[in-house]
Amino acid sequence: MPDSQPTPQHGSCGSVAAISAAAHRILVEETATFVDRHPRSKAVFDDTSSGFLNQVPLHWMRDWPMPFPVVLATAKGSDVTDIDGNAAVDFCLGDTGAMFGHGPGVIVEALARTAEIGLTTMLPSADVGVVGRLLSQIFGLSRWQVTATASDANRFAFRVARAVTGRRKILVFDGCYHGAADETLVDLEDGRTVGRENLLGQAVDLAETTVCIPFNDLPALEAALATGEIACVVAEPVMTNCGMILPQAGFHTALRELTRAHGTLLHIDETHTISTGLGGYTKTHGLEPDILVVGKPVGGGVPVAVWGMTEAIAGRLDAVRAAKSGIGHSGIGTTLSGSALQLACLRACLETVMTGAAYQTMNRLADRIEAGFSAAIGNAGLPWHVSRVGARLEVVFAPSLVRNAVEARAAAIPVVQKAIHLALLNRGYLLTPFHNMVLVAPTTSEPQVTGLVACFGQILSRLAAGAVAK
Ligand code: PMP
Repeated sequence: MPDSQPTPQHGSCGSVAAISAAAHRILVEETATFVDRHPRSKAVFDDTSSGFLNQVPLHWMRDWPMPFPVVLATAKGSDVTDIDGNAAVDFCLGDTGAMFGHGPGVIVEALARTAEIGLTTMLPSADVGVVGRLLSQIFGLSRWQVTATASDANRFAFRVARAVTGRRKILVFDGCYHGAADETLVDLEDGRTVGRENLLGQAVDLAETTVCIPFNDLPALEAALATGEIACVVAEPVMTNCGMILPQAGFHTALRELTRAHGTLLHIDETHTISTGLGGYTKTHGLEPDILVVGKPVGGGVPVAVWGMTEAIAGRLDAVRAAKSGIGHSGIGTTLSGSALQLACLRACLETVMTGAAYQTMNRLADRIEAGFSAAIGNAGLPWHVSRVGARLEVVFAPSLVRNAVEARAAAIPVVQKAIHLALLNRGYLLTPFHNMVLVAPTTSEPQVTGLVACFGQILSRLAAGAVAK
C-alpha cells in the first residue's frame, strides 16, 4: 500500500524531497547569478574553435557544479581571481595539489633556479641525498622513488607488490580512488568486483586483477586474504573520495595484523590524508605500511609524487631484479620523473613548506571550521555532521559517521551539494567540486574562515527555511 510507506525524513526540515526541492530552487537562482558574473569565462567555453576537446585541457574541468568553469586569472596563497574580475578564497586548493597555498616563495625560487641548470636531463641532481633522507625522516620508510603523479606512483607500486609476492591481485575498498590506475577503478556490486560504469576503453576484466570489499569490514578482509591471491591491500587510511569515511576503532591495527599474517603487503595512499599532520595519517597514527604513496602537494604544487618502501621490500625487489637482467623495460618509471626540477621543489617543500608549524596553523583553523559548520547544521535543524581528517573537512548528509561506501552513497544528495557549492562560490568561497571538500592551507586567514562559516550558516538557513515553507 503506497500510503503505508514512510516518507524519508530529514530532521526538522521535513523530507529529503523537501530539502532537495529547496536546494533546486537555490541552485536555479545561484546559477543565474553565476552566469551573470562570468561573461568572459562563458565566452571561453562557447568558443568551440579553441582546439581543445570540449574547450578544456582536461575533461574533468567540465565536471564542476557550475554550468561552465571559471577561467583562472591568478592564484596566490589562498586567493584566486578569474578573468571576469571575481575573487574567491580558495578552499579547493587544486583538490589538494596546492594544499600549502598557491606558489610558496621557496617553490617559485626552486623553479627559477632549476630552469637555469636544465629542466629535463634524465640525470639525478645533487638534491638526491637530502630529499631521500627527508622523505625517510618524515614518513618513516627507507627507499624512495619519484614520479610525476600519484596515479603513476600507485601503478608502479602495484607492480612491485606483485613482483615481490608472486601474486596477481590487489585488494581495494569500495568507493576508493587512487588515480588513473586501472586495477583500482572498480566497484562492489552485489558482492562482485566490477569495472566502474563510466570507464572508457577498458580491455581487461578488472575482476581478474582486483578484489573489492567494503571499508571497515574485517571478516570480508580476512576472507579475501585467506585466498592467498592478494599481493597488496591498497588503502587510503581515511577514505576521502566517496564522501569521507573514517576507520572504525581498531581497523588499522587489524588491517596490519591480517596483511602480515597472510603475506600480503600493505600499501597506504596518503595523497589526500597528507592533510592529517606532518608525515600524514601514517606518522600521526603510527601505521606501518610496506609501501607508501604521497602525491599532489608534496612538491608544493608542481607535478611530482613520491613512493617509498621498507628496507625489507627493497631487498626483495633487488632479488627479483637480480634474477632478471636488471635493465630494460620494467613497466615502472616515466621519462620526466625524478628531474632536477622535481627534486628541488620536493626539497623546498619538505624543508620549509610542509612543516609541523604549517600543520598547526591548518589544524587550528580547521577546528574553527568544524565547530562553525557543526553549529550551523544544528541551527538549521539538519541531520548532518562534519567528517574530518586534519585540515580536510566535509559535510556528510547523515546524522552519524558512515562506515562504508554504501552508507556514504546513500547519504549523498547531489542537488544539495551543488546548491551549497554554487551559493558559496557566488559569495567568494571556492570548495572542491567533488563532494564540497574544504581544505585549509597555512596561507588561510582567520577572517577567511570566519567569512566561510558565516556564509555556510546563511545558506543552510535558507535551505532549511525553503524546505519547511513548501
Ligand atoms: N590517490 C588518491 C587518494 C587520490 O585522491 C588521487 C586523486 N584525487 C590520486 C591518488 C591520484 O592523483 P593524481 O590525479 O595526481 O595522479
